[in-house]
Amino acid sequence: MTEPGKVSMEKIVSLCQRRGFIFPSSEIYGGLSSCWDYGPLGVELKRNIKDAWWRAVVQERDDIVGLDAGILMHPQTWAASGHLEGFSDPLVECKNCHLRWRVDDLKDKNCPACGGELTKPRLFNLMFKTFMGPVEEEANVVYLRPETAQGMFVNFQNVVNTTRKRIPFGITQIGKAFRNEITTGNFVFRSREFEQMEIEFFVKPGTDEEWFNYWLEERLNWYVNLGIKKEHLRLRQHAKDELAHYARVCYDIDYLFPMGWAELEGIANRGDFDLVQHTKYSGKSLDYFDDETKERFIPYIIEPSAGVDRSALAFLCDAYDEEPAEDEIRVLLHFHPSLAPIKVAVLPLSRREKLVEAAKQVYADLRQCWIVDYDDAQSIGRRYRRQDEIGTPFCITIDFQSLEDKQVTIRERDTMKQIRVPISELKAALAAKLSGEDLFVLPPGGQIWKE
Ligand code: ATP
Repeated sequence: MTEPGKVSMEKIVSLCQRRGFIFPSSEIYGGLSSCWDYGPLGVELKRNIKDAWWRAVVQERDDIVGLDAGILMHPQTWAASGHLEGFSDPLVECKNCHLRWRVDDLKDKNCPACGGELTKPRLFNLMFKTFMGPVEEEANVVYLRPETAQGMFVNFQNVVNTTRKRIPFGITQIGKAFRNEITTGNFVFRSREFEQMEIEFFVKPGTDEEWFNYWLEERLNWYVNLGIKKEHLRLRQHAKDELAHYARVCYDIDYLFPMGWAELEGIANRGDFDLVQHTKYSGKSLDYFDDETKERFIPYIIEPSAGVDRSALAFLCDAYDEEPAEDEIRVLLHFHPSLAPIKVAVLPLSRREKLVEAAKQVYADLRQCWIVDYDDAQSIGRRYRRQDEIGTPFCITIDFQSLEDKQVTIRERDTMKQIRVPISELKAALAAKLSGEDLFVLPPGGQIWKE
């Protein structure tokens, strides 16, 4: 067994490239620094993470609605938010090798790469700039958003006016954000283009502390319910001098990544900072009228802000395992079934026509419900290993006996246990299994199958 928290980043990167989770961006041109492309399995993993978020915060609640605001926003947004002024890191440049370094990261006063002399620090804005329209002049500058949050603040009134949501309620969105990061590395942990999942939860001032604590617990549980081991998560409170300009209180949910503890998600009590700022810069009132108490106030905002890419990396690291199997090492990903890119693999024991026909039928039927793989290449043992390595929870084997008794074998990834089930009940059995039930509960009239 891989010791918890001890998988190396090299192993994760190698598995991701080998099996098609994540590739370097534009690899045929030598890659693009700190940008990544998600391959066929990676895109499924990310979709599943985003679906799990949407399910937990929109579908299963009645106090949060979704939004999909544009990546390009009015440039005044970034003046109001403080990003134009404050979203900069102090940098120094080496006079010898010209590498730039974040002052916070330096341990001594010379260049860590060549020992050369460093320049005085200067501020470097992390927002990507571009131009709107055909003329590249200062008046037409727009920015690629560095966070999704602002789209939700500027639409606060639109949501209040068009839904029947009353405070406390939240808006959530998932989308791309861009930061011209200075210190990069650690695979997709810090990239220049990434995806965020954020909630802006609007509350009455005075109830903010209670809601803040509620969201800390809620968000920690989300990761645990999706299989992250509790001992690999911790809460870390930001010290006063570390707090962002908008935050009254902030905690990070840290994960024990291969390079050590690092932020997976930030949860901040932003007070009334955002709505006050946007009122000031837009001239539009963003206060809220409580019809019950007849009070008018500017809501406080509690913000859980998570990264899809950092979550994907955490789920991959936490799921990774190696165990001795016969005379080799079995590599497997213990993904929670809802996150596994492929839920089921259909494996005919041979390529004989009759078997293939039956297997293809099962395959077509299961694809109506899930992402399913069909694999008939090489020995059954090898095929099981291939599926284990990408975290497929169940393999269905179809053998010659299946043609006679219309039953197939379900093989479970983690325990490698096998049971036989009638084909007619396969879907119901898999549905129960994939939703975490231990028993195979059959349709009315059927028996209950125990393993
Ligand atoms: P860090 O201190 O690591 O730079 P941050 O405090 O700037 O992170 P936030 O602004 O709080 O990050 O962003 C919220 C979330 O967005 C983070 O917890 C992380 O999951 C994700 N995120 C932020 N920057 C990046 C990045 N460059 N690459 C990948 N994910 C990121």
